[in-house]
Amino acid sequence: MHVITDIEAMRHYRQGQEGKKIGFVPTMGALHAGHLSLIEQARTECEAVIISIFVNPLQFGPNEDFEKYPRELKRDIALAEGAGADVVFAPTQTEMYPRPLVTQVVVAEITERLCGASRPGHFTGVTTVVSKLFHIVQPTHAYFGLKDAQQVAVIERMVEDLHFPLEIVPCPTVREEDGLALSSRNRYLSKQEREQAPILYQALTRAEANLLQGKYKSSAHLEEDVRTHITSQPLAQIEYVEALTYPDLTPLTDLHSPLILLLAVRFGDTRLIDNILLNKGEQ
Ligand code: AMP
Repeated sequence: MHVITDIEAMRHYRQGQEGKKIGFVPTMGALHAGHLSLIEQARTECEAVIISIFVNPLQFGPNEDFEKYPRELKRDIALAEGAGADVVFAPTQTEMYPRPLVTQVVVAEITERLCGASRPGHFTGVTTVVSKLFHIVQPTHAYFGLKDAQQVAVIERMVEDLHFPLEIVPCPTVREEDGLALSSRNRYLSKQEREQAPILYQALTRAEANLLQGKYKSSAHLEEDVRTHITSQPLAQIEYVEALTYPDLTPLTDLHSPLILLLAVRFGDTRLIDNILLNKGEQ
């Protein structure tokens, strides 16, 4: 496996792969089984698999955890290799941002609600760095986790609007045994917070069962029921609970079409997100 830190060497490697199916998995490192599942899926579908590890300052707000975000490159390289990656692309900050950017990629509307409302500028940071990485790596397929469902929707829209010549492959969320979605931020949780955090997935699956049984009169009713259930855990502070259409993330007109139930909940300083797709089979 190759570890590449500069853009020129990355382009050189890519030129040697002409005509192949190139799978790309962008990450911020601190790899866990969720990231590894994306690499493994790319491995089964592509001839070359490239993973990037870059903690992107542009997508962190001023009071967020950029400084303390875990950085474990050596460990990550070993894990990526074990999962079947051919290349770890791990550029430095100065390699990616040699001077302050005056160019940004902005996706409107879909970025304005949910995480976009509580993290101003976050999605512009994501779409800008992902565009840069797509230009450098030139994948044919890029793998993203549905744990960050709004991110998938935003990137799919950017790829469509800007005619990036590649396919986005959304991948299922990997969870702990108790249902908590794997996240590099779970390590910030105290013991007590960690014990209460599985309420998120419990609330999502409970809502799924209730919806199937026709217990909800409206999306507002569904959202209110989920909020009430989550607040049974005293440390949970809800940021949002929303049921929207999928993949457009627009307000629901009925509860029978494909929909996504998304939530963001804080435990102390740690912000967790999760979601579930419902009515998948129905059109
Ligand atoms: P990050 O390093 O947090 O930027 O995540 C890199 C990629 O891994 C993104 O596409 C995430 O959606 C994906 N990812 C993160 N956590 C999970 C998970 N628990 N299951 C599946 N994919 C995940």
